[in-house]
Amino acid sequence: MELDRIKSAVAVSIDVAVPSLWSLSLELHRHPELAFQEKRASAAVARFLEERGFSVEMGVADLPTAFRAKRPAKGAGKPVVSFMAEYDALPGLGHACGHNVIAMASAGAGAALVSVLGPEAGGVQVLGTPAEEGGGGKVIMAKKGFFRKIDANMMMHPSGETRAMVNFLALAELRFRFHGKASHASAAHEKGINALDGVLATFSAISALRQHLPPGAKVHGVITEGGEAPNIIPEKASAWFYVRSETAKGLDDIVQRVINCARGAARATGTRVRVEKNPITYAPMRVNGELASLFRKNLESLGVFELDPLPPLAMGSSDVGNASQNAPTIHPEIQMVSPDISAHTQAFARAAGGVAGKKTLILGAKALAMTGVDIFLDKKARDRVKEAFRNEKLRVEGGRPASSTGTAKK
Ligand SMILES: [Zn+2]
Ligand SMILES: [Zn+2]
Repeated sequence: MELDRIKSAVAVSIDVAVPSLWSLSLELHRHPELAFQEKRASAAVARFLEERGFSVEMGVADLPTAFRAKRPAKGAGKPVVSFMAEYDALPGLGHACGHNVIAMASAGAGAALVSVLGPEAGGVQVLGTPAEEGGGGKVIMAKKGFFRKIDANMMMHPSGETRAMVNFLALAELRFRFHGKASHASAAHEKGINALDGVLATFSAISALRQHLPPGAKVHGVITEGGEAPNIIPEKASAWFYVRSETAKGLDDIVQRVINCARGAARATGTRVRVEKNPITYAPMRVNGELASLFRKNLESLGVFELDPLPPLAMGSSDVGNASQNAPTIHPEIQMVSPDISAHTQAFARAAGGVAGKKTLILGAKALAMTGVDIFLDKKARDRVKEAFRNEKLRVEGGRPASSTGTAKK
């Protein structure tokens, strides 16, 4: 069949590109750069695409290390298939999340699609999306409209297991800064106001709140400042919380209730509290079961199968959630390490710069590009993806109960 022939050609094109894809991926791995500082990495990935006929805008969305690479450069190439290239590393651990693999899988998929199909088939885009590990580059890019008018928006992430569909929770970040009055903790305790009590009472109130949160909602925090010495009543104390929810509406509600816990704690302890909410909020993932199933089939045709066919529960959060609100999006995982090795560890970083990383990069690039072929050439598949995107809107906005999490299949 025509579709299969083109997919094979795309896979061959990636095989041919492996030496440059892997050497660039290793270059990123050897020179890890933190969120928003990925100067060298963004330039290297952008150059790779420019050399393959993409027109590149650097520093888009007012982010110096973000870019948009497009082919064709001008005009409305339709449909549009877009890939997200992450390339930031972690402090102290280097590429312990394997973003060097992600960057070149996305760039490789984009380049292969263009080389096999040519610009007539539609628009191919690669977005350089900085600061996934902190800073939320995609949140900022989504706000500025970079994920609109895309028929399929994709990336893959190396992992301890293979999963076509990965879900994410919405996430908000809160900091509470309590203010009291210092005093000698023994000689003049009655003159003091203990800021740490404000923090402790906040934790207690949140513990009580947890029982009443909807399924999937999570609140977890740490004390970042708790006093200097036992004989000084702490004048200042602070806590830092993450609030997560399956829906955007649910998130707003829980954030308000958690803030109320801190305000109530301040009232009870006679302290003052300053509430700081990070303006970067991660949206929940608007999963797309149809796009995920196209990816799954392509991965299977490459001999890779999911071990666990169940739709996954949303565990963590990612700025890809914000991208997914604007276009049909998938963030599948491909197994690079054994399931007992977690991301953000030295073992994961080693794998991302070794044979396993290379294998994952090649598989990822091929499955992504082949899914791009489906979007370009199979109108029915494209329509199903679009419909799944519409159907999923209600759930992530909080209009449907959280229990209906899962595929967007009819
Ligand atoms: Zn990570
Ligand atoms: Zn990551």
